[in-house]
Amino acid sequence: MIPHNGYFKQLIDSPRVETFFSTRHVGLDAVLADQKIPPKDVVHMHQVHEANVAIVSCAPSEPIPNTDAVVTHIPGVVLAVKTADCLPLLILHNTQPIIAAIHAGRKSTQSSIVLATIKTIQNTFHCGDDFTFWFGPSICKACYQIDQETDLHFDLIGENESQIASVINAPTIIKSNRCTKCENDVFFSYRGGDRLSRLYSLIRLKPE
Ligand SMILES: [Zn+2]
Repeated sequence: MIPHNGYFKQLIDSPRVETFFSTRHVGLDAVLADQKIPPKDVVHMHQVHEANVAIVSCAPSEPIPNTDAVVTHIPGVVLAVKTADCLPLLILHNTQPIIAAIHAGRKSTQSSIVLATIKTIQNTFHCGDDFTFWFGPSICKACYQIDQETDLHFDLIGENESQIASVINAPTIIKSNRCTKCENDVFFSYRGGDRLSRLYSLIRLKPE
């Protein structure tokens, strides 16, 4: 993640995509304005913590209902995922023009949303498994206690990593290694008290 005007860009180091991540201080609208991206080009999801995957070829005027992962092969279409502790996951196919954005919370992770997305991409585009994955800032295992009595913690990063490794040999995973709750001064954290505000991860294919 390269800091840029108070937000982050170039999350995946490839000349084929542009990627951005907003912060507590520079939100979605400001990132879009700074990058001169028309808001109408952004694909939003109405995220519901399930494992449904949508494929789009343009940005709909309304958020896609009942969806936590979105895929496109069209340059210029901006995929957006919103989070505050959940894991934002971006995918680039390394040879074909295919990208995806995933909202991997605990529930959608337990429903294997990353595997559902990989499968949807491969069934649709008949491509290989040569992907780059970006794991954005999310709540770390130490902060993510899911049962107080037994002190049980959930590892969002580790769970998604092992799911990917179960279908892809030696996958390329770029991890931000930033915790939204530990760094609540930079990021929004639901468990840190941010009930409504969200962080945005954005990805688009550059025109060829
Ligand atoms: Zn933490």
